[in-house]
Amino acid sequence: MATFNIKTNRTFTLVRKRAWIITLLVAIGGLWYHKLGLLVIPIMIALSALSFFRGRQWCGNYCPHGSLYDFLALPLSSNKKIPAILKSKVFRALVFAGFGYSMTNKFMKVFPTFGSDMFLDKLGFVFVTTYLMVLIVGGLLSIFISPRAWCQFCPMGTIQTLSYKLGKLLGVAKLTDKKVIVAAQEKCHNCGKCARVCPMQLLPYQEFSDKNQFDNEKCIRCSTCVVNCPAGILSLDTQKEAEIINASTEIEGYEGRQRISAVISKIVQLKDDITEYSFNFKDPQRVDYKPGQFILVKISDYPSMSRAYSISSYDKDGRSLSVTMKNMSDGYGTQIIADTFKVGKKVELEGPMGKELVVDKSVKKVLLIAGGIGITPFRPIVTELLQTKNNIDEIKLIYGVNKQDEFIYDDHFKKLEYEYAKFEYIKVVASDKTWEGKKGFVTNIIQEMELEGYKVYICGPKPMIGPAMKVLKQRNVNEDDIFVESA
Ligand SMILES: Cc1cc2nc3c(=O)[nH]c(=O)nc-3n(C[C@H](O)[C@H](O)[C@H](O)COP(=O)(O)OP(=O)(O)OC[C@H]3O[C@@H](n4cnc5c(N)ncnc54)[C@H](O)[C@@H]3O)c2cc1C
Ligand code: SF4
Ligand code: SF4
Repeated sequence: MATFNIKTNRTFTLVRKRAWIITLLVAIGGLWYHKLGLLVIPIMIALSALSFFRGRQWCGNYCPHGSLYDFLALPLSSNKKIPAILKSKVFRALVFAGFGYSMTNKFMKVFPTFGSDMFLDKLGFVFVTTYLMVLIVGGLLSIFISPRAWCQFCPMGTIQTLSYKLGKLLGVAKLTDKKVIVAAQEKCHNCGKCARVCPMQLLPYQEFSDKNQFDNEKCIRCSTCVVNCPAGILSLDTQKEAEIINASTEIEGYEGRQRISAVISKIVQLKDDITEYSFNFKDPQRVDYKPGQFILVKISDYPSMSRAYSISSYDKDGRSLSVTMKNMSDGYGTQIIADTFKVGKKVELEGPMGKELVVDKSVKKVLLIAGGIGITPFRPIVTELLQTKNNIDEIKLIYGVNKQDEFIYDDHFKKLEYEYAKFEYIKVVASDKTWEGKKGFVTNIIQEMELEGYKVYICGPKPMIGPAMKVLKQRNVNEDDIFVESA
């Protein structure tokens, strides 16, 4: 059963991968050599100072406990929703007050020994026991709830929030703070992936300000959402950098995006795991979309979430469209769709969106490369290119799959190849002994082809796109002539 919160790599730097060693050194090693606890003092100074300029950046990038939760505890964690009580301000304030009271008491007991040999050992031990407590409580919460459950109310996090508020009040943080920013909200797929991977279980995509920034003070600037956003529109930048990025981000292909009320008119099971859904538009009744564009299909209201699907049909009248989905056994959205989408159901769509696969019709030669489910946008693209007037003399489609029974829309493409001399349909199968046609990957075909003068359009899974790009570049295809969309 797919869950909302997904486990994904959160340690992108050596510090984030290894800082947990300091936690064990202080919390465990400190039981024997108490002075190790004194390491916590520079840590506290560093986190308080950094947060004045950059909010809770320490927590997501340098914190030894954070590294332990994200690197060691995540694989063992049940990764559940963090209970609202642990996120509440009241709970945070109570923990902070309790922590302050306990630390003051401990210091009061240590200070009478000031000047003696024991002083540093005793002071160090205060920090050792505190570090150990955080290791035990935070570790247990990590495993039984979520890796960053402790961070919701960590007193060090509260200190950072207070220091950050001061930095904001004095106008300094505005210049130095690198927040999550979105290059253009028009390009957001509303997929919720940024929220699903967020260690703090925040909802960035629902809270972007009118300045396109995510202002939530709980954000630990860990960049996990940035790395995982399928639209590639997130980054960690200052307000000034955000303004430059926003101004220079093109939204061509997204400017016609609108909400569309639609009804499911047909469901066709193409393969065991591939289904074609057709929608009739209700409001508006006509939508001007181009072959190669995609559409968002709403899968839930709370939180509002959609999934992006390439338009796999070509309706000149713009009154309907189809999308073709591969059902992922562990997919959150495709499971909801498989369970709840029936003929007659009202569905909210949003779009059309995308320009990468909208083919330039002024060129002479077009090469289309599809891997697996990445074939879907090419069905309307090839149909339109062949059935309407344009400059194109040659259209080649390379379609790669793993096993021969995975080809979809095969008869459609074969028929078009038979009817139009300028269209060549090349199929390739990676691992199927019974297949008698071309064997290997799409890259094997590209290696052998004459590529002079082609504009290339690629759609498929990421493991196909990387090698295909590499071969095209090795074969001297200009990067400006390659257009890619990951399915
Ligand atoms: C522009 C565009 C067009 C697309 N067109 C199509 C199309 O025509 N047909 C089609 O079937 N799909 C298409 N997709 C993909 C589609 O949007 C969904 O991503 C897909 O249906 C899976 O959604 P899901 O919610 O079921 O899967 P998810 O729950 O998002 O998971 C998908 C898979 O990835 C794994 N996973 C997810 N996130 C992570 C992570 N961070 N770390 C590790 N593993 C992870 C999951 O375990 C699962 O195996 C398109 C995507 C884009 C961006
Ligand atoms: S919003 Fe992004 S950067 Fe902030 S904590 Fe969540 S995943 Fe990390
Ligand atoms: S991850 Fe999805 S919802 Fe979040 S910003 Fe990127 S496209 Fe939008």
